[in-house]
Amino acid sequence: MPATPTITGAVLGTALHAPSRGRLELLADSVFAIGADGAIESIHGGASPEGAALVARHRAARTLRELEAGQYLLPGLIDLHVHAPQWPQRGLALDHPLEVWLQQYTFPLESRYADLAFANSVYEDLVDNLLANGTTTALYYASIHLPATQRLADICLRRSQRALIGRVAMDHPDQCPAYYRDASAAAAEADTRTFIEYVEALPGNARGFIKPVITPRFIPSCTDELLYRLGALARATGCHVQTHCSESDWAHGFVHSRCGVSDTAALNRFGLLSRNTILAHGNFIGDDDIGLLVASGTGIAHCPLSNFYFSDAVLPLRSLLDRNVHVGLGTDIAGGASPSILDNARHAILSSRALESGVDPRQDRATRRRESARIDVPTAFWLATAAGGIALDLPVGVFKPGFQFDALLIDPEVPGSNLRLAADDPPHDVLQKIIYGASRVNVREVWVAGRSVHTA
Ligand SMILES: [Zn+2]
Repeated sequence: MPATPTITGAVLGTALHAPSRGRLELLADSVFAIGADGAIESIHGGASPEGAALVARHRAARTLRELEAGQYLLPGLIDLHVHAPQWPQRGLALDHPLEVWLQQYTFPLESRYADLAFANSVYEDLVDNLLANGTTTALYYASIHLPATQRLADICLRRSQRALIGRVAMDHPDQCPAYYRDASAAAAEADTRTFIEYVEALPGNARGFIKPVITPRFIPSCTDELLYRLGALARATGCHVQTHCSESDWAHGFVHSRCGVSDTAALNRFGLLSRNTILAHGNFIGDDDIGLLVASGTGIAHCPLSNFYFSDAVLPLRSLLDRNVHVGLGTDIAGGASPSILDNARHAILSSRALESGVDPRQDRATRRRESARIDVPTAFWLATAAGGIALDLPVGVFKPGFQFDALLIDPEVPGSNLRLAADDPPHDVLQKIIYGASRVNVREVWVAGRSVHTA
């Protein structure tokens, strides 16, 4: 069982980040000084007088991490949608529609987390793998089980993975099997409250490194009473909220027929939209829904790989960004089989290109395509990092003073690497090669809040 790592004093090397949508910035040969709270205190050129003094001081104190030429520091990757208990079924049953996948595969698996030993082994392995892939912040769905969800919080805190974690609430007898549902709306709310109190009282979590998340699974799984209760709880506590919204034809249509309005409008009615809310998917949200998202500050977790399997459509990502909706990326394990946000950044580019080109060659070019739907590589990188931080309203995803030092080190010179970088590659080319060519083997080291939490 690894102990909580200590904070690195300073890092000297070259970094790439995307401080705003579509804008790439190279911080060449820079020294990043890190404070005791894990935040970046200052960034200076390593050869500047201030930088040289910092390097000398930290070198003398043996608190300097010096990166090698050809290595690149990136902001830590942010996963806005991951179902922790579904880790064992990645890649399985993806040929079924969402409602069948849930009832026949996912609910039986999630019900097994009543067994705390099983939960412990899966969650340890999951957190280990996400960190190894460079995911420094994760927004987790757990299961309905309070002890297993508390264990996930314990593991993330001990491993120093920044995490927002929800104990899943689902009480609707028509859509949740008897073996895997809350006994009542009141019981689901009570367990949610208990989990919030547990996380807030966790020893070592005084700064809110681990955050509790109010998590109605999605409207079909929950009674109106439960949704109203959780909306009131969200207002009373200010906690983050996560749920699914308008993912597929079935989910979108189901909510409309039950509630008489769109998924987004229904969630708003239940009091569940806020600056701290993240909605997974949102493929079928309409123009009026977008207005509600912008007015409330609600964010979208775009899960491009999962969408190819379960959503019946591609998210009109660029039109959401153009209307200033907060959007970040999610793996949607296990609807998406990859634990890598880098993979999903690639998929976000590809799905936006598919939307722009159209996919059915029998359709006339003019009717099969959607104008101006594509995103570029720097935008995908921004979605994977800074935009995820914005959606969560956390100071992560960018290298600047006051922001947390959450980072991964990309190293092209490792065995099994597909990545080839040339010394004279301009920053934009470096980023393109990393987005399209880097994989887990290239993630040499990972830091969260200034702590080195993974080395390969
Ligand atoms: Zn999901």
